[in-house]
Amino acid sequence: TEEDLADLEWQGDAPAAKERPVPPVLAVVGRPNVGKSTLINRILGKRVAVVQDTPGVTRDRVRYDAIWNGRPFIVVDTGGWESKVKGLDLSVAQQAELAINEADAVAFVVDATVGATSTDEEVVKLLRGSGKPVVLVANKVDSDMQEADAAYLWSLGLGEPYPVSALHGRGSGDLLDKIMKILPQTSLVNSRYRSEGPRRVALVGRPNVGKSSLLNRLAGEERVVVNELAGTTRDPVDEFIELDGEAWTFVDTAGIRRRVHQTSGADFYASLRTQNAIEKSDLGLVLLDASEPLTEQDVRVIQQVVDAGRALVIIANKWDLVDVDRQEEFNRELERELVQLSWAQRVNLSALTGWHTNRLSSAMNNAYENWNRRITTSKLNNFLGELSAAHPHPVRGGKQPRILFATQPSAAPPRFVIFSTGFIEHGYRRFIENRLRETFDFSGTPIEISVKVRE
Ligand code: GDP
Ligand code: GDP
Repeated sequence: TEEDLADLEWQGDAPAAKERPVPPVLAVVGRPNVGKSTLINRILGKRVAVVQDTPGVTRDRVRYDAIWNGRPFIVVDTGGWESKVKGLDLSVAQQAELAINEADAVAFVVDATVGATSTDEEVVKLLRGSGKPVVLVANKVDSDMQEADAAYLWSLGLGEPYPVSALHGRGSGDLLDKIMKILPQTSLVNSRYRSEGPRRVALVGRPNVGKSSLLNRLAGEERVVVNELAGTTRDPVDEFIELDGEAWTFVDTAGIRRRVHQTSGADFYASLRTQNAIEKSDLGLVLLDASEPLTEQDVRVIQQVVDAGRALVIIANKWDLVDVDRQEEFNRELERELVQLSWAQRVNLSALTGWHTNRLSSAMNNAYENWNRRITTSKLNNFLGELSAAHPHPVRGGKQPRILFATQPSAAPPRFVIFSTGFIEHGYRRFIENRLRETFDFSGTPIEISVKVRE
């Protein structure tokens, strides 16, 4: 009815999830056995720890909702990563780097009874380089007698060590007060909730496909490096690159620039890093090496972008090595592996020679704009009215579900809700999706369609 439509139209203007503020994120980092878990339990107190429900690899991270003096924040327990990658040699420093990337502030825990080890020093370097606020926790200071142990940790150069006994609670109130001082009011790290600033892109792909080559070429060709764009918060691990007059934030480039030492845990590490980068971005730029057969890992990275609901541009790199036969073969591989992704934007280029790298920005802009596209309820319903009149849903068991109306409650990525008189089968949904894509140009972006049945 008209009223329903008016309601839905209004919903369409409601703030999307994108602008909803999230509590700031505190990562707790340190060597095994320094007392990270004990400290987190102390922070959470008697409250029920709610494990946050986040998709993808993030299930390997443990995030808890916490509150202190009425202010909510999220605690990330990196200890969980250790047990997950037992035997995989994910170093403490690697863990710290991941945690720092996704946190607004870091609590760095050192066992004061042991003092700072060389591993601790390594983490300190990362923390200093990150520019993120850090609080140094001198743990296992169970009594006044041990305060002196804590004072030694001044030498780490991270400022005042906070003597704490996570086990007994000694000093934990002061520590929490300090933590609340260094945490921002709302999280700055998660772009999903960011409302302004340059478009954010994650340059991802398996090792050796040419990520760092491409990054260097783009940064070198278009010398920008805008130091401070007004009103933006810039993560020190990100880089601004201007492409054809459009500023982009390439997130987590530190990991691309610094060639990561290949340890046995590297796959797991790379996968977490990729997931982090995608979550922080609007658009995933997935590099493939076109001179080599498509691998499972390639497909997985692309799927990560789609599952996260981000815009997608696929880059077929090393095109200088690709002859006509390989071109055909490569196209067949893509078609076979990415059946449902014919909508993805694709650019063939060579990071090495620079061939066609100038085509990248228009593909990125295109995908980004389509990702943000909003169709008015009236246009959408005109479209669906014509579609269902010309191609009604097939009759099933004597019944024929009828489409009543539809709306697009949110964009980035576009989400549609269709109201109908009965269950709409999968094939017909795909048909609607394809027609939607043809009519309104959603190339380069996943779209979601859900159906609600009205009696
Ligand atoms: P994690 O590996 O860093 O998460 O460390 P845990 O929280 O599992 O703690 C390792 C060990 O140190 C456990 O046996 C804890 O009981 C102990 N521990 C943690 N905090 C304290 C503390 O403040 N004082 C003392 N004496 N022991 C502690
Ligand atoms: P990353 O691990 O994804 O960052 O990959 P790199 O940028 O380090 O590239 C891996 C290797 O591929 C290096 O030897 C590059 O010189 C080479 N490479 C990168 N892009 C191209 C390209 O377009 N053509 C050719 N022939 N080689 C490339």
